[in-house]
Amino acid sequence: MAERRLQVTSRLGLHARAAANLVRVASKFKSSLTLQRLDGNAEADAKSILSILTLAASRGTDLRIVASGVDEQEALDAVVGLFSRDFDETEKSDGGQYSRATEELRCKGLGVSDSIVIGRVMRLQEGTHDVYRAEIAEADLERETRRFRAAVRLSRRQLETIKDRAEKELGRGHAYIFDAHLLFLEDAKLTRDVEDYIVKQRSNAEWAAKVVGDRLLSIYTQINDEYLRERGSDIEDVIQRLLSNLTGEGPRYPNLSEDAVIVSPDLLPSTIAELNLNHVKAIATDAGGWTSHMAIIARGLGLTAVVGLRDFYERTRTGDQVIVDARRGEVILHPSESTIEQYQTSDQTPAFVAVNHAESGPVVTRDGVQILLRANVELPTEFQAINDFGACGVGLFRSEFLLSRPGMMSSEEQQYEVYKSLAEAAGEYGAIVRLFDLGGELGSDLKERERNPALGLRAVRFGLRNKEMMRTQVRAILRAAAAGRLSLLIPMVADVGDVRLAKQLIDEELVRLASEQKVFSEVRIGAMIEVPSAMLTAEKIASEVDFFELGTNDLVQYTLAVDRGNDKVSEWFRTLHPAVLYGITRTLQAAREASIPVIVCGEMASTPAYAVLLVGLGTIDLSMIPALIPRVRRVLSQIGAAQAREVALKCLNSATADEVEELVRNEFRSHWPELFSLNTLPKPHQSPE
Ligand code: PEP
Ligand code: MG
Repeated sequence: MAERRLQVTSRLGLHARAAANLVRVASKFKSSLTLQRLDGNAEADAKSILSILTLAASRGTDLRIVASGVDEQEALDAVVGLFSRDFDETEKSDGGQYSRATEELRCKGLGVSDSIVIGRVMRLQEGTHDVYRAEIAEADLERETRRFRAAVRLSRRQLETIKDRAEKELGRGHAYIFDAHLLFLEDAKLTRDVEDYIVKQRSNAEWAAKVVGDRLLSIYTQINDEYLRERGSDIEDVIQRLLSNLTGEGPRYPNLSEDAVIVSPDLLPSTIAELNLNHVKAIATDAGGWTSHMAIIARGLGLTAVVGLRDFYERTRTGDQVIVDARRGEVILHPSESTIEQYQTSDQTPAFVAVNHAESGPVVTRDGVQILLRANVELPTEFQAINDFGACGVGLFRSEFLLSRPGMMSSEEQQYEVYKSLAEAAGEYGAIVRLFDLGGELGSDLKERERNPALGLRAVRFGLRNKEMMRTQVRAILRAAAAGRLSLLIPMVADVGDVRLAKQLIDEELVRLASEQKVFSEVRIGAMIEVPSAMLTAEKIASEVDFFELGTNDLVQYTLAVDRGNDKVSEWFRTLHPAVLYGITRTLQAAREASIPVIVCGEMASTPAYAVLLVGLGTIDLSMIPALIPRVRRVLSQIGAAQAREVALKCLNSATADEVEELVRNEFRSHWPELFSLNTLPKPHQSPE
């Protein structure tokens, strides 16, 4: 055995490129080579890049190198020589990929909640599916291991191609990172551990790769040295590639640190619903707008969120420090010490929590108009909030979030339990369960991607094409209605034809439940008015349903032909467009003539200024995220509905959204200066460049 002590002197420590060179040199010898930190904290195999990196040996770390075997002296000399030459690095500076700027970087997006978080980036790429565990029969373990090795080979070929291209296009300094990826991929610490896991746990290869990968990643996220910790992202990349090659699926989210900020190009609402909220502190996404489902659910869960950041994801690495300031709609990557200090000393209490929310029931305007304030809820975890924020029951239960992942169905019994507890939580005002609004941006279990999901097999169309799924849900609702006050809502009807088809199915299930002697109750049936054709034929629909719900999020999207989740067109998403106000008025009028109620349940209802305008247009029933009810309550209790009506009429006569917004700014400031600061009113619009 031969050994030597030395100190890491290179500026960046034993980072990926240095470690890769060390592995290359060490692997030429037969002897084993071990690196030990003198502080006793860790030991690494010099032939394994993953093992070396977990040493977290930054500049100044004292190490002992131990060689043992037939050529131990030569091996030791070669390694010591490499250390003394600072690992033969051609670029002494922070060149190549690792020269990423770590100066403070501010990106503007759209804050969809009201709070601020300081945390660490956890990158998450969507568009992939979950990795599930499957038990493999003893006889198939060998085949499973071979499958894993084949995925490693395929990943290697892909990485070699990428590396060649990077070398040609960007130069050697940039391509070396793929050398490191190749070494990660073939590192025994990864491959052997995965294979061991497959065999010992009789696990499928995907699950084994995910578990081992997550384990390695969690080691990295705990490393103190900023520079070395960043290498976790490279391991993350390699694991993702491996998983994609095994299944076409990637890991959902690795072990999360306590202060994780999920950074993603886009997130499925169901992914957000699944997040472990004890760990995830905030989300920041490139896509999304105020009314995208991702934003709605983040708000409902009280998550700090900034969406519509466009190219933020590409600028981050897992482990980077980040501030998510949803109040200003801003994220700050690599915040400077003074920025952090500024944030730490500022008041981070979300504004809506500061409002007294002891009151409950309807709110009455100064001139005596009574307005119901109901809750929009998506998940059973929010049921408690119905009471906490004084809601008049539940105006909208977006039931599709029960199917926590696209493609997963909940049984009749499971749904029944949820609807029953929803009815209990909603109390005397009851709850309105919307049939699954699947498809569109929420995804579905459709195998082929639709060309135009928002105009595709969404909501009631999806239900009518998947009748068994719809029947199961209808039965669960009808049965739960025997235990509390529930109504049923049909989403996104295009006309009364959709309503009739849905009602026919509901009638059939009523008959079946009766013949099966099940306990159930008839329910009131409502239609969502959220597409222009439904708005334009509202009188016809009104004569066949018990109530309307106005979904302003989709009404804006479809009336103005602006994708609600696409940040590139967010400037055109104008809630106060006169065409939208006209659509709302028309719907309210049709309902009035048929003597049925209308609940406005889009995000518009939760913004105080917009809520006032809705009251001016004749709305007396609003539904919104529970936490936002106190704020709307406070404002509505201090305005006169007649004054709101005057402003609304002027708005209806305007030609553009700009004109309406200007009117709202001026009139609201003059009628209710104590209620509306300029901050709380629509800002003057910048025309799109
Ligand atoms: C709406 O469209 O306004 C609505 C309330 O439904 P969702 O946001 O779920 O589409
Ligand atoms: Mg909708």
